[in-house]
Amino acid sequence: MSTTAAIDYTGKVAFVTGAGSGIGRATAIAFAKAGASVAAVDIGEKGLAETVAQIEGMGGKALTLVCDVTKGADVKAALDRTVETFGRLDAAFNNAGIEQPAQPLADLSEDVWDRIIAVNLKSVFLCMKYQIEIMLRQGSGAIVNTSSGAGVLAIRGQSSYCASKFGVVATSKVAALEYADKGIRVNAICPGIIDTPMIARYTGDTDEGRARIISQEPVGRMGRPEEIAGTVLWLCSEAGGFVTGHAMVVDGGQTAGI
Ligand code: NAD
Repeated sequence: MSTTAAIDYTGKVAFVTGAGSGIGRATAIAFAKAGASVAAVDIGEKGLAETVAQIEGMGGKALTLVCDVTKGADVKAALDRTVETFGRLDAAFNNAGIEQPAQPLADLSEDVWDRIIAVNLKSVFLCMKYQIEIMLRQGSGAIVNTSSGAGVLAIRGQSSYCASKFGVVATSKVAALEYADKGIRVNAICPGIIDTPMIARYTGDTDEGRARIISQEPVGRMGRPEEIAGTVLWLCSEAGGFVTGHAMVVDGGQTAGI
């Protein structure tokens, strides 16, 4: 693969969590369009089936992996199936996540805190734990973990979400240091406001809700899931070969003024 030609994943294998919706779906499809075999992972069977159908409909190869990323045994089984089916693992996008209901810290229940940390942060640890084992055997691999603007910026009403996403940046940077000399790169991506079902839930999907959130974006629009996918493909490719331990903000300028 040249570092200047269009990104080509022919013969490569990509593992994508949260592949049944939004950013994960767009990235799974983008990897497949670029030639990768895609292990598509989600807890939601319906969304996952739709993503896999889209990939297969365009002649791509995809493996359906229903998996709860908060459970180590599920994650390990999904990765074992990936290697049994496709023979290797080149790129991993650990992206599954959930939103926190907007609530000041003192009103937040212990259960909600634990759930957000488990889905958004523990999952990244579990995925990397078993992915790195495989990548160490190969001597190569690239991982991108989904953080958020909320991983670089404190947001009122989002204590557990911010804690989880700051934690994703920290865990990614530590892993990047630990495996930099083993041919494994680890980065985080910090999306701004991206037009997905998560944001529709967050805004109530009303014109007013959308306008309120778009007003935070200097570019005057939400990002598209495909705009995150493009960055993930670049980060996992040889074109991004000297990038590791980085938290890449892709946010239409949302955090540029802080
Ligand atoms: P989404 O709700 O559209 O998709 C998230 C997917 O994750 C869903 O398909 C869901 O089923 C899956 N998932 C949830 N819990 C899971 C579990 N335990 N095991 C396996 N899969 C699970 O959301 P999205 O907007 O595409 O968000 C994707 C990621 O991007 C999340 O980590 C989110 O926090 C992050 N993010 C989103 C935005 C945004 O504006 N949309 C901004 C910054 C960061």
